[in-house]
Amino acid sequence: MDKLREECGVFGVFSDKTEDLARSCYYGLYALQHRGQESCGIVVNDDGVFHDYKDVGLVNDVFTHDVLKSLGAGNIAVGHVRYGTTGAGGRLNAQPIVVNHVKGRMALAHNGNLTNSYELREELEMNGSIFHTTSDTEVISYIITKERISSPSIEEAVNRAMHRLKGAYSLVIMSPSKLIAARDEHGFRPLCYGRTGNGDYVVASESCALDSVGATFIRDIEPGEILVFARDGIRSIRDHCGKEKQTMCVFEYIYFARPDSVIDGYSVHNARLRAGKFLAQTHPVEADVVIGVPDSGLDAALGYAQESGIPYGIGFIKNKYIGRTFISPGQANREDKVKIKLNTISETVKGKRVVMVDDSIVRGTTCGPIIRLLREAGAKEVHMRVSAPPFTDPCYYGVDIDSKDRLIANHHTIDEIRQIIGADSLGYLTLEDVVRLTADDDTDRFCTACFSGKYPTQVPTNMRKNRFEGKISERSEREEEKE
Ligand code: SF4
Repeated sequence: MDKLREECGVFGVFSDKTEDLARSCYYGLYALQHRGQESCGIVVNDDGVFHDYKDVGLVNDVFTHDVLKSLGAGNIAVGHVRYGTTGAGGRLNAQPIVVNHVKGRMALAHNGNLTNSYELREELEMNGSIFHTTSDTEVISYIITKERISSPSIEEAVNRAMHRLKGAYSLVIMSPSKLIAARDEHGFRPLCYGRTGNGDYVVASESCALDSVGATFIRDIEPGEILVFARDGIRSIRDHCGKEKQTMCVFEYIYFARPDSVIDGYSVHNARLRAGKFLAQTHPVEADVVIGVPDSGLDAALGYAQESGIPYGIGFIKNKYIGRTFISPGQANREDKVKIKLNTISETVKGKRVVMVDDSIVRGTTCGPIIRLLREAGAKEVHMRVSAPPFTDPCYYGVDIDSKDRLIANHHTIDEIRQIIGADSLGYLTLEDVVRLTADDDTDRFCTACFSGKYPTQVPTNMRKNRFEGKISERSEREEEKE
């Protein structure tokens, strides 16, 4: 589908007793699967001994009963689901990363993208570091372990490392005796923690993962905060808090996060309802039914219907069993691929003027086939409403938009896009409304750079997803030239 790829999901659990924490991680990662479907991993810490397993594939496929059993019991564990925004996919870059350093071991899982990873990596390599992966997460782990040499504790090493890390990162870090959660100073990516009925502390990218292990949400980790879970209690280190203005990724509310999650105090479902409501106010139309494109268009469609008074209907059924790795049979064209993934309920749309709500248009390549599906099912008119503003700029904070060329709104006006996709009318959420998704009076805390071109940090000079692979080949070419 013409969708942006999610970034990653992180999960960690700390217990004061030895338990089957691999299973807790499994349930947590399963709830976070929407954030990354390329690879996944779990590391269990049994009193300082780390057992890890990671592989490409979905959580359910990678973590069979036997694999979970082989990880054994422990008192701390961390897990990760990945869609790589830096570095190639595959097992090599699967997380959590486990490193042995001069003062022990550490496992680290990361969601986000550093904006200075290229410079940091070059500096580390010049000083003799040898990298095993091409992801920026390994850069973070090297910076922390380097700081660990002169730091009295792992949390102090993380604290010092955060002075050097720029960009987006929500981290869970496991040492032999501690679990640490840390969020970058801007708070681009979500991170929260809670507690289970039997006293285990749980850290996760989204609150839906806390729910999945029966943990009660306590609060979000604040931008710049380091939270340390140890046998002697929880400690918050706030040296980096308030240093930068919060710029939470607004697209988490529009598309990435699960609607049953609550992020920074605001329900994702409510934010999407509000998006639909704003769309109904700014782009009203005479119609008979409002439908959403599953899954993330559904809540906004409901909001549009509630605000406009036009009845809400189920227009599409999505085949839930198609994963990211789905391979289309033969040379299936885009039309066929859409049909394999989506089917219309003609009773909902036949003979009707339909408002169809979706969360975004990236390249614009699948909207046309979806609209044609509705017309084939008998829709008289199709009015498309998009619960995000037009994408105009790349993301440097962990979302897979690395080229302006891929974005249809860069080359075409809204009316041209309408004609290309074959809609009777087309309306996007405005930039003024996108910052009001969570509340009318809390509008100044979002990153909207991919819609506005206004970046909250310095923009890196080299942000190709596979820049480290590029670097390796560029270097070998240079070396070859010299020889
Ligand atoms: Fe989110 Fe867009 Fe900002 Fe990236 S540029 S963090 S996708 S709002």
